[in-house]
Amino acid sequence: MKDNKELYRMSKEELFMYMKADGNGLTTDAASEILEEKGHNVISESKKKSALAVFFGQFKDMLVIILIMAAVISMFSGNAESTAVIFAVIIMNAVLGTIQYVKAEKSLESLKAMSAPHARVLRDGRKIEIPAENVVPGDVLLLDAGDMVAADGRVLCSYSLQVNESSLTGESTSVDKTDRVPEGEAGIADRTNMVYSGSLVTYGRAEILVTATGMETEMGKIAGLMNATKEKKTPLQVSLDDFSRKLAIAIMIISAIVFGIRIYQRQPLLESLMFAVALAVAAIPEALGSIVTIVQAMGTQKMAADNAVMKELKAVESLGCVSVICSDKTGTLTQNRMTVENVYIDGACINPDEIDIKKQLHRYLLYIAILNNDSSIDGEKGIGDPTEYCLLTMARNAGLSNAGISEENIRQLMPRMAELPFDSDRKMMSTKYMIHNIPMILTKGATDIILERTENIAVSDGVRPITPDDRKKIYRQNEIFSEQGQRVLAFAYKETDNSQRLEPDDESGYTFVGLAAMTDPPREESENAVMEAKSAGIKTVMITGDHKVTAKAIAERIGIFEDGDIAVTGQELDRMTDEELDGIIENVSVYARVSPENKIRIVEHWQKKGRIVAMTGDGVNDAPALKKADIGIAMGITGTEVSKDAASMILTDDNFATIIKAVLNGRNVFRNIKNAIQFLLSGNMAAIMVVLYCSVAALPTPFEPVHLLFINLLTDSLPALAIGMEPVDKSLMKQRPRNPKEGIITRDFALNLLLYGVMIAVSTLTGFYTGLSVNAATASTMAFAVLTLARLFSWI
Ligand code: ADP
Ligand code: MG
Repeated sequence: MKDNKELYRMSKEELFMYMKADGNGLTTDAASEILEEKGHNVISESKKKSALAVFFGQFKDMLVIILIMAAVISMFSGNAESTAVIFAVIIMNAVLGTIQYVKAEKSLESLKAMSAPHARVLRDGRKIEIPAENVVPGDVLLLDAGDMVAADGRVLCSYSLQVNESSLTGESTSVDKTDRVPEGEAGIADRTNMVYSGSLVTYGRAEILVTATGMETEMGKIAGLMNATKEKKTPLQVSLDDFSRKLAIAIMIISAIVFGIRIYQRQPLLESLMFAVALAVAAIPEALGSIVTIVQAMGTQKMAADNAVMKELKAVESLGCVSVICSDKTGTLTQNRMTVENVYIDGACINPDEIDIKKQLHRYLLYIAILNNDSSIDGEKGIGDPTEYCLLTMARNAGLSNAGISEENIRQLMPRMAELPFDSDRKMMSTKYMIHNIPMILTKGATDIILERTENIAVSDGVRPITPDDRKKIYRQNEIFSEQGQRVLAFAYKETDNSQRLEPDDESGYTFVGLAAMTDPPREESENAVMEAKSAGIKTVMITGDHKVTAKAIAERIGIFEDGDIAVTGQELDRMTDEELDGIIENVSVYARVSPENKIRIVEHWQKKGRIVAMTGDGVNDAPALKKADIGIAMGITGTEVSKDAASMILTDDNFATIIKAVLNGRNVFRNIKNAIQFLLSGNMAAIMVVLYCSVAALPTPFEPVHLLFINLLTDSLPALAIGMEPVDKSLMKQRPRNPKEGIITRDFALNLLLYGVMIAVSTLTGFYTGLSVNAATASTMAFAVLTLARLFSWI
């Protein structure tokens, strides 16, 4: 039997024999049998930390170490009771920490599962979409631009397929892949007829015979090496860790000073030691770390329930600072429910049902609409790009159905010879067909782009050179449609040679046929969401590949474009210097006809102004801009796998309003963490002040370590957790975005802390003195009661 490695050198016949498959895909039964045998197509992650390891990990914490020291000192001071209680508390805290860690892990995992990739395969002879983990060897995998390759496989046929294999080979430029067998031996990077799991399809499409899945893929083989990635802490966790460390040092110093004072006052040594220990115990906010984690974990769960899946915890923090949201128009602000409303053909604007298949010119329009189109309609449901399947609906309504013809009939009759898929740079799509024995290129795309490449015009009397007057009329009509917020497609064709090739250079010298204008109503929630964003100090910017006038019309309807705002096209942007752009960027609320590079520039210029930018994207070419933005947002329904991979947040409903909800949740998480910390620290501060005061004033010990631990456990952690769970309220959306440079411990925060700390300390001392008139034990009891109650009340 041949080695797997040789798969790329086999002829197709050998390959099919070896794989016991053919190029027509598996049946559902065969696939589930293979799945049973081979297992799921997943690359198992590095071993997870066991709960026990997490548990012991908790003891490495500096604060816990101090507690342990306190327990040991208590033991030597003959206070076995205290020692037992301290240990009980430490263990309980560790258990709590472990439970929280595991819970947070679980919620991250379920978020990961929600953003798990899908794959399209041929099963039972039909194209279906399945979770990528169910792909098996022998499957025929269908790849399109924007897909992530779900398994290793051999290319069966390809149309201009380009793949980025950087995750495997480190090579960042895309490589061409075809079904040609390379000559001689080839390393992985040179096997141009194989694709590998984890690569990204950057262009074209292909059919692949899956040869390996899961851990047997090239990616799976090196997975062991890659899994060494450390768990990442969020900036907040890092700054809190840092804070806790400093706090611990400060507490030790204060404790040492107190100990010194006591000794100086000639107090017994052991009692002084206990005093210092009590102080350390009181001051340490053990719950800090786990509370932050759990609040963040619960926050992401809430967001997921609200249709925003966070791919990284870090993004939750930045979300609260977002002050600019750059959003796509189509599908995010609008419904992506296209309907063709108007058609312009033969120099006149007509209703789409006036299209007449008996007229040759109209038939040409329909040919282009149906053939130069990758979508289909299954029953009532459109599959593919709404911009495309609304054209099929148009064709059906134009009498195709009445004539007993379906678009499938036409497509079967005329096989496609070559294609150049739509992309947001070219803004058009071309295909090559043999139509009535004449090889032709059919093209549809943005009106301006098509007209630039047009030489002739088709009218009812035949084809003639296009005149400046024709152009003017077409541009005018385009303008009228756009002013109503309609999206316009221009249709054109040209005769060509009958080779199987089609290059971007061929896209010129066209004959213009007509225009189709389609509506795409704004989402109902959009207007409100934009308003909410505004009151929260967040600017919404529309970025679209569509026509400027169309974009502006929709932006006005939703409230994004207001008086004094500017709409800019990608071309205008290209001509601007950096200084010019900086000068107007705050007033630009619509960018139209943008290219993906434009998006990156827009993000960069906002960031230069110190803004935190969220940006949406769905296409392959959007990935760099999504990575560049502080929060890259991908579309869960219509987005490509590539964009989801690059994003830090995925909208499961593709809805702009969801972004605003997520920002609100992000702000809430931050506020709750801040409040919980304030609660913890103000109480601890009060305890320190009381103990310090008593030691300086040579009063009896106000609290035994056991008391302080009790306080820490019951009146620290649990209420702090409750504060951390506080639900979202509207006031959060009335505030300005938080300054990203500002951590939790701001001046206001510290002042507040001090104020609360002093208030609680003064009331506690009042209780202590009142009790002291009876005896030390009563004093201690009263101080304890006041401290616990004052903390809770101070919060109300
Ligand atoms: P957006 O998604 O921001 O609305 P696109 O980049 O999808 O913008 O579209 C830009 C322009 O390209 C549209 O105005 C339209 O004229 C044209 N276009 C859009 N989709 C297609 C397609 N599938 N085929 C040909 N042209 C298209
Ligand atoms: Mg689009």
